[in-house]
Amino acid sequence: MSGLKNVVIIGAASGGATVARALAKSLPETHRIVLIDANEAAFWQVAGLRASVQPGFEDKLFADLATFWKPGSRHIVKPKTKVTELGEDFVVTDAGEKISFDYAVLAMGAKYQTPGRQASHSKAESIASLKQMQAQIAAARHILVVGGGPVGVEFIGEVISQYSGKDKKKITLVHNGKQLIGSKYSASLHSKLSAQLQKAGVHVLLEESIPSEQLPSSTGSLEAARTFTTAKGTSVGDVDFALLSFSGKPNSQLVSAFDASAVDPATQWVRVDEQSLHVLSDDAGKMQRYFALGDVSDAPGGKLVAQINNQGPVIAANIAALVRSSSSKAATAGIKLNAYKPLPTFIAVPLGPAGGAIQTPIATLGEWTVSLIKGKGLFLSNFQSLYKSQ
Ligand SMILES: Cc1cc2nc3c(=O)[nH]c(=O)nc-3n(C[C@H](O)[C@H](O)[C@H](O)COP(=O)(O)OP(=O)(O)OC[C@H]3O[C@@H](n4cnc5c(N)ncnc54)[C@H](O)[C@@H]3O)c2cc1C
Repeated sequence: MSGLKNVVIIGAASGGATVARALAKSLPETHRIVLIDANEAAFWQVAGLRASVQPGFEDKLFADLATFWKPGSRHIVKPKTKVTELGEDFVVTDAGEKISFDYAVLAMGAKYQTPGRQASHSKAESIASLKQMQAQIAAARHILVVGGGPVGVEFIGEVISQYSGKDKKKITLVHNGKQLIGSKYSASLHSKLSAQLQKAGVHVLLEESIPSEQLPSSTGSLEAARTFTTAKGTSVGDVDFALLSFSGKPNSQLVSAFDASAVDPATQWVRVDEQSLHVLSDDAGKMQRYFALGDVSDAPGGKLVAQINNQGPVIAANIAALVRSSSSKAATAGIKLNAYKPLPTFIAVPLGPAGGAIQTPIATLGEWTVSLIKGKGLFLSNFQSLYKSQ
């Protein structure tokens, strides 16, 4: 027995890892971090689309979780371990282990279609799946992209930058909105992206949708080339590869099973106090030791790593303050907690390494800026430094 008390973090992707790194700097030595993830390796979603198209890129996107902490660290990481049950002051894993804690952080993220997430908990299987998708795209003649949000549009950007000239693919994008990316973003973002897609020969159908009964169950090659017909009757023929790019669904089932009042029934996001990021519940006792961030939470500001980078340090500071104030007291009452401040609306949508557009709070800018900020490097160095053994 170590005699140390635990702070459990469920999920070791951007959200969980960011809290873990910040908390390791301030957590009193009476406590240790137990970082748990169902996956063997962390995966950099931000670059997942390029890895699904560009052969050789896939290896850069994974970081083994087993080496998250340096040997000799008092903190623990448990890769390939799924939390299957929550309690007021404990979690249970799929190995049947019950881990008690003083505080816990929910960082379970959201379920996206691949390649927006790993295809498997195994790193080797996830890499094999990305390679398979690269081969399917290389062989495809007509690609249908359903959904013109950031995932669908960025995916097209990767395909047009990888396959040009005689290798160029026919691409059709079907989007049910008036504006690419979404109506909460600027008209200028839409027009900059539309102009580049049009120049590349992409056929964009706005305010159109493919009825759900026609959709394949997942992204990938179709068994045989086929024709799709939109709800308005437009025919999209001879499609042999389809990308389904809908938004992710929060992984909040564990929370609903323990305390349904902590989950927003409309969105399935875990409800948090928008400043302290403490989980909200109608039952005062049940979730008082829990915080949540990232794609599983309803913290304001959009589901982005950029917001997680602000949320993680706030949760770490709040847990450290609570632990210091009284290691036996769970309630937050009486302690002044740190407040999260979301970034203003900001989105970078590269079209491959050299194209795309970016909306900042000041202006919407084009290819040169988005390429410099995101398109070329896809923030891979941030990922590598987050997971460098410490
Ligand atoms: C294709 C794509 C491109 C993106 N591009 C950008 C971008 O350019 N900039 C940006 O800021 N954001 C971008 N995002 C959004 C960003 O990737 C997400 O906001 C971020 O990854 C969310 O991190 P998270 O830690 O909350 O959740 P996730 O990344 O979903 O991770 C959740 C983790 O929890 C683990 N987990 C879940 N349930 C359990 C359980 N019961 N037990 C144990 N482990 C569990 C999972 O295995 C997973 O590792 C992009 C997203 C996608 C899909």
